[in-house]
Amino acid sequence: LSERLQKALRNLTGKGKISEEDINAASREIRLALLEADVNFKVVKDFIKTIKKRALGAEVQESLTPGQQVIKIVDEELTKMMGETAVPLNKAPHVPTIIMMVGLQGTGKTTTVGKLANRLMKTENARPFLIAGDVYRPAAIDQLKQIGDQLKVPVYTEPGEKNVPKIVEDGLAEAKKHHNDYVIIDTAGRLEIDEPLMKELEEVKAVAHPDNILLVVDAMTGQAATGVAKGFDDRLDVTGVILTKLDGDTRGGAALSIRAVTGKPILFTGQGEKLTDLDVFHPDRMASRILGMGDMLSLIEKAQQDYDAKEAEKVAEKMRANTFDFNDFIDQLEQVQKMGPLDEIMKMIPGFANNPQLKNFSIDEKQIAHTKAIVYSMTPEERENENLLNPSRRRRIAAGSGVPIVEVNRMIKEFKTAKEMMSKVTKGNFKDLQNLPGM
Ligand code: GDP
Ligand code: MG
Repeated sequence: LSERLQKALRNLTGKGKISEEDINAASREIRLALLEADVNFKVVKDFIKTIKKRALGAEVQESLTPGQQVIKIVDEELTKMMGETAVPLNKAPHVPTIIMMVGLQGTGKTTTVGKLANRLMKTENARPFLIAGDVYRPAAIDQLKQIGDQLKVPVYTEPGEKNVPKIVEDGLAEAKKHHNDYVIIDTAGRLEIDEPLMKELEEVKAVAHPDNILLVVDAMTGQAATGVAKGFDDRLDVTGVILTKLDGDTRGGAALSIRAVTGKPILFTGQGEKLTDLDVFHPDRMASRILGMGDMLSLIEKAQQDYDAKEAEKVAEKMRANTFDFNDFIDQLEQVQKMGPLDEIMKMIPGFANNPQLKNFSIDEKQIAHTKAIVYSMTPEERENENLLNPSRRRRIAAGSGVPIVEVNRMIKEFKTAKEMMSKVTKGNFKDLQNLPGM
């Protein structure tokens, strides 16, 4: 999506005055870009109408270039379309707050139950309680139990019982007895919406009185997701949406359409299979990202979450004292890796996102794996003192790590260069930096 849209908008940049013809041309590209991103047809139509009206109308400011003006309008309208601001969970006036998860099979309900529990524990110190309401496949119950074990969170099940509303009722009573502050109910899904499932979900809703009914939607299903969302919403009046597998969706069409079609906010997005891969959905940031302006805010938040500031200070101190060694180096690599795939992170940085010159730029995760293998093949003394690494030791490391000797040599050289550079930066001596390779 972003590339196409960017191109359309770039064509407008630099022109003196925006003409109707320009707007028509840009609109055409924006329309194609959105349709290509699998955004719902009607949503696209309305969107283009709004953009045209605004761009041609009185709101065009003389202080901006036509291109800037259109970007601003598209950004604002995209944001509006996705719901303006992040929406929190509904809270019950008395504990527990009840969350019911619904959605088609395989969209990520069970995984998201775990992710949400994990998030609530981390951010609110909550004590969630999970109810296994998908009784049709034994594996589904085991899956939730495993997640519960991993998080050390209770999972309520009734082996052999097929009456889901009863299980939910009993589970809720149990949670109330133990004063759990959140109850999250996992439910069954089907490959498509069918009557028995909807009926069961309605019954569960009737006994549980959930504060939140969260529809889990797989972002990769694109356009089809809107129809499903509407189907669930018509029957259950969902309170919000969780968009999963956004890590595998380059198009983003579902995010654009769902809010427009159902009027229901997207609360969270799933960004991977791990229990930590759940992010708050920020419509404004998503719009900026789609427009290729970079998602600095998300990047900063991610970095802060995963990177311990104290750890960073310790490393900086080591750099100042010039005692930074391979052990620290590995720690650093691991911190960087924790932030997620590096090319994903690069995409969030303005200037990198849609810069055609950097189109093929990506950081090689395999390279990092090699680097780690090399360091792991060093002795503790070698890790602390790179000067010990004579040719025979390097050969031994190459053999041990399975990495060619040239690569071992290059990695050590790069480490030394980086160390030298970092020690200069932290000492405030920037003058010599220009002489370093790559600067
Ligand atoms: P359910 O049938 O709706 O309960 O779906 P599950 O929770 O069992 O998930 C189905 C599959 O999708 C599993 O393999 C999950 O690991 C995977 N999955 C769930 N959420 C995400 C996500 O955000 N990103 C990715 N890449 N995979 C996910
Ligand atoms: Mg499931």
